[in-house]
Amino acid sequence: MATLVSPPVRKLPTIHQTQCFIGGQWLPSQSGKTFETIDPSTEQVIAQVAEGDAADVDLAAKAARKAFEEGPWSKMDARDRGRLMYKLADLIEEEKEELAALESLDNGKPVRDSLAADLPLTIDCLRYYAGFADKIHGQTIPIRGNYLCYTRKEPVGVVGQIIPWNFPMLMTAWKWGPALAAGCTIVMKPAEQTPLTCLRMARLAQKAGIPDGVINVVPGYGPTAGAAVVKHPGIDKVAFTGETSTAQTIMRESVASLKRLTFELGGKSPNIIFADSDLDAAAAGAHFGLYFNQGQCCCAGSRVFVEDKVYDKFIDKVASMNTSRRLGDPLDPTTEQGPQVDKTQMEKILHYIDLGKQQGAQMVSGGKRFGEKGYYVEPTLFADVNDDMSIAKDEIFGPVMSVLRFSDMDDLLKRANNTMFGLAAAVWTRDIGRAHTFAKALRAGTVWVNCYDVFDAAAPFGGFKMSGIGRELGEEGLKAYTENKTITVAM
Ligand code: NAD
Repeated sequence: MATLVSPPVRKLPTIHQTQCFIGGQWLPSQSGKTFETIDPSTEQVIAQVAEGDAADVDLAAKAARKAFEEGPWSKMDARDRGRLMYKLADLIEEEKEELAALESLDNGKPVRDSLAADLPLTIDCLRYYAGFADKIHGQTIPIRGNYLCYTRKEPVGVVGQIIPWNFPMLMTAWKWGPALAAGCTIVMKPAEQTPLTCLRMARLAQKAGIPDGVINVVPGYGPTAGAAVVKHPGIDKVAFTGETSTAQTIMRESVASLKRLTFELGGKSPNIIFADSDLDAAAAGAHFGLYFNQGQCCCAGSRVFVEDKVYDKFIDKVASMNTSRRLGDPLDPTTEQGPQVDKTQMEKILHYIDLGKQQGAQMVSGGKRFGEKGYYVEPTLFADVNDDMSIAKDEIFGPVMSVLRFSDMDDLLKRANNTMFGLAAAVWTRDIGRAHTFAKALRAGTVWVNCYDVFDAAAPFGGFKMSGIGRELGEEGLKAYTENKTITVAM
């Protein structure tokens, strides 16, 4: 049984922004409608937020177009764009305690995680791309004949960015960083469950001096505001992070305008633990790789393959970590696990736990809702999972670890790759040859060896197969916001 942290006196962050941010102004939605954002730990309404839809997206797209074509952004030296981005990162850093609390209030993630992961990674990402702003350049190309041929990398234009709720600030930074560095302007649609930190970042962007219209934020629902971003003829590219099925809808909707698309989607990542690994480190790494952020990570190591010889020991270690895990108020700095983001997610996870039981997996720990208030799910561990069970195939997006057994190495690789996803994978072993063999053969965009969830703004991230198209972060992530122009001059 996980332990309950007693609720402390809650010091709530201030909510400054709940309206659309368009052309540098805070506006109610054109329809006047609002939606509620909920604290998932108490089920109480935190704020009423403007419910943007097609009319607001249209205004935002026009403001972004104006800023792109006429405004100071397009005329500004790249180095000055970078300077404003550094300033934004500095302002976020100055308010990091407040922003971490706001993220935890809106999303439910423990504030210690917001402070240790979301905030530093957000700041680092913006600084990394700020440094890139004046280092985006083309090539001179020796072609036949008496010509000077060179290429320029130009901003793709007005970009629509649609993000999920699991890392609201960090996903905002992953989207804004490369777009701003490249000189694009932005129409952002945050997730309806967690709009608050993205809106707060827009406020800080304005304070940093990023010109009006460069960043526009339209909160609202996917099928209305999100779909309007995808369909808008004045938006040149859509960068989307979310579910694979939503990406398929977006792709269909983009056919008419041939928008540039980049997708960061779901996963069912294999985490392979060999008997020769440092088992304590592997168990701790696998635990972190699955239960971090309440299991709501696209790259969660949710199919854990453990070699027969150490299988029982591994199960004992993870079960014991689950027993002492502290669930409670996300704003309490000692809390290790908060609630799921909303009731829908909690119910989906509980449904998968039922399927796991029905289909014959052995439930070792957890297995039910935790408490009666808030959308908490106990850290749940299933042993004796086989490859055909729903809990081994589907993305659960919750604190449910499925542990599978292996002894045959060739068979293992086939099993690990036998999924429509290909976002991430990990291998734990002391055998360097085997580590590299698996790193090469695993069909995934990221492979961690003897570690998990190591992220850096400089390291590209994205999916093989149905886990995505394109990459975010690093130089690859920047390329996705540029068009290549070839110029040939007769000499
Ligand atoms: P989702 O696809 O339901 O929603 C994501 C965003 O898309 C939200 O802002 C939503 O409002 C919007 N949306 C929904 N329908 C839309 C439509 N028809 N047109 C345009 N926009 C629409 O995903 P979610 O449940 O919020 O997030 C969880 C998913 O995100 C998981 O599958 C997870 O693996 C994935 N994810 C991937 C990464 C990555 O980097 N690969 C990172 C985080 C999350």
